[in-house]
Amino acid sequence: MVDVVEIDEIREIVRKYTLDNAVKYDGKAQVKSVMQKIMGTHKELRSRAKVILKEVEQTIPKINSLSPAEQLKELKKIAPELLEQEDSDKRPTELPPLENALEGKVKTRYAPEPNGDMHIGHAFTAFFAHYYAQRYEGTFLLRFEDTNPAQERTEFMDAHRESLAWLGLEPDEEVIVSYDLPFLYEKAEKLIEKDLAYTCSCTSDTMHTYRNEEKLCKHASATPEETLQTWEKMLAGKFDEGDMVLRLRGDIHHKNAVMREPVIFTIRKDSHCLQGEKYNLWPLYDFAAAIEDYKCGITHIGRSSEFDTRIELQNYIREVLGMLPQPEIFHFARFNVIGSPASKRKIKPLISEGKVEGWDDIRLVTIKGLRKRGITPAAIKAVAKEIGMTTQPTNIDWSLIEAKNRQIIDSQANRYFFVPNPVLVYVKNAPEGLISEIPLHPDFPDRGIKKQPTGLFFLIPNKDYLELAIEKEFRLKDLYNIILTDKEVNLFGKNEPEVISSFDKEQQAFLKQFKHQAIAKYTDEELKPGPKIQWTAADPRETIPVEVKIPEVLFIDGKYNKNSLHVTTGFAEKAATNLQVGDIVQFERFGFIRVDQKKDNKLLVNRAHK
Ligand SMILES: [Zn+2]
Repeated sequence: MVDVVEIDEIREIVRKYTLDNAVKYDGKAQVKSVMQKIMGTHKELRSRAKVILKEVEQTIPKINSLSPAEQLKELKKIAPELLEQEDSDKRPTELPPLENALEGKVKTRYAPEPNGDMHIGHAFTAFFAHYYAQRYEGTFLLRFEDTNPAQERTEFMDAHRESLAWLGLEPDEEVIVSYDLPFLYEKAEKLIEKDLAYTCSCTSDTMHTYRNEEKLCKHASATPEETLQTWEKMLAGKFDEGDMVLRLRGDIHHKNAVMREPVIFTIRKDSHCLQGEKYNLWPLYDFAAAIEDYKCGITHIGRSSEFDTRIELQNYIREVLGMLPQPEIFHFARFNVIGSPASKRKIKPLISEGKVEGWDDIRLVTIKGLRKRGITPAAIKAVAKEIGMTTQPTNIDWSLIEAKNRQIIDSQANRYFFVPNPVLVYVKNAPEGLISEIPLHPDFPDRGIKKQPTGLFFLIPNKDYLELAIEKEFRLKDLYNIILTDKEVNLFGKNEPEVISSFDKEQQAFLKQFKHQAIAKYTDEELKPGPKIQWTAADPRETIPVEVKIPEVLFIDGKYNKNSLHVTTGFAEKAATNLQVGDIVQFERFGFIRVDQKKDNKLLVNRAHK
C-alpha cells in the first residue's frame, strides 16, 4: 500500500519535472520525456513507475493549460535549481574551432622531449592536438625533440608511447628529430650563406652583458666564408663543449630578448641514446622545432600561453628560410594541479631522495601514477576538455580529477565489502548457515551475485566499532540487525565460547589475530533507519587479506607532506579473490580502488578516491 506522505512526495517531483519540461518545450510537456527525466533522476522510484505514470498523465493537462509565463514563474518558485541547471546546459560543450582549418588538411603534433615520463600537462597538450586532428579528420603526429644528448632516454620515448596508447591518443605518425640532424645542418648552412648566422666563441657571461647592453660581439662581423670555415670545424668535432656556438643574426635591439642573437647550434659531446657518438653538434630547441614543424607539415600548434616569446623567434627562422606559410597557433589555459608537481625538474629529486616511490607513485600526476591510482583515461580527457574551454590560467584541485573519475567509474565499478582495521565480533545467537546474497552492482543485477556464508563470528571496521554504543542496534549491511552487548572483551580467555574448540587450527589462529573483540546479539532482519555497516565473515576461507595505499596531497603550501601516503590493512569478502590486477572496484563506504598486485593470496590495492 502506498502511504500518504510518499504519494505527496511523488506529486511534488512529478509537478516539478512536468513544469521543467513545459518550460523547455514551448509550454507543452510530454508524457514520455517527463517520465524519462524522472526515472533517470530518481532511480529509487523506478519500482513505482506505474504510480508515477498515472500522476504524470493527470498533471500534464493542468500544467499545459498555464501560460508560458505562469509556468516559468511556478518553476522558479518550486524548483529554481532546475532553471540554473538549464543555464549550465547552455555552456559550450565543445572546444572552440580552429582558425583556417581545412577538413582533412589539419596536422597537429605532440612534441615532448624524452627526458622524463609523461605527466598530466603533457597529456592535455596531446589531447588537444589529437582532438583537433580528429575533429578535422586530419593527422596527429608524435615528435620526439631529442636534441639534448645528455638528457634523452629511449625508455622515456617508450613511456610516452605507452601512455599515449593507454590514453587512447595514438599518433598517426612518429618522428624522431635526432634522425633529421643532417637536414638541420643543411638549413644552418643556408643561413650562413645568407649571412644570417655566425659562429661565436664568447663565454655566456660575456654574451649576457652584450645582450643587456644591446651590443654585438666582435664575431658578428665575420663574413659568410669565414663563418662557414669555422662551422666545418664544428661539424668535424674540432671544438670542445662551450668553446663555439652558431648564432642567428637577430636584432640586438629587439624588445623581445629571445630575438637578440640567439644560439641555434652548440657543441655537446655526450653520447646520445639513439645516435651514440655520431654527432657532436646539436641544434637548440627553437631552431629544431621551427624547422621540424615546417618539415612535418604542421598546420596548427597548441600552446599554453598567450604571450610566448618563442613563437616570434620560430616564425622568424621559418620566414628567413622561406618555410611558409606559418602554422596557426591555438591557445589553451596554463594549469596546475594544486599540491602535485608535474615537471621532471621537481619529480626527479623526489625520486632520488626517496620521497616518492618512482615515476609511477600514486601521489604524482604522471600518467603512470594516475593509472596506477585508478584514474581513468576518460577522466583525464574530461578534465582536459574542461581546461580547454577556458583561456584563464587554472589551478585545478585533485577533487576535480576525482569527481570526473567517480562519474565515469561509478556504474562500471562493482561493489565489494572491505573491512579496514577489523574488530572481531562474536554474535552469540546468530542464525547459523545463513548465506548473504548481494548483486555485484545494485543497478546491474545481470553482473551476478556474490555469496557470503555467515556464522557466529564477523569482522567490522574499527572506525565504526568506536562509534557504536553498547545496546545500540545497527545493521550488518544487507544481512540483519545486531546489538553490541560487550566491547573490548577477550573471547579467548577462561570464558572462551565453546564453539571455538570445534574450529580447526587455521581458523582459530585467524580469530586470535584481532586485538579488539566484542560480543553482540542478533535482533531481527527488519530494515530500519540507523547505521548499516559493511562486514565480512571472520573466517580465513571466506575472506582475502587486503593492503590499501591511500594517497594524500604531496605538497601543502609548497612543503613536502610527510603524511602523504597511508597504508591500511584489512579483509575483503571472498568474492574479491576473483579480482585481477588493473580492476577498478568500489569498496563500499571506503572508496574506489584499483588492484595493483596479487601476492601470496593477498590483494595490494590503491585507493583512487572516496
Ligand atoms: Zn662572440
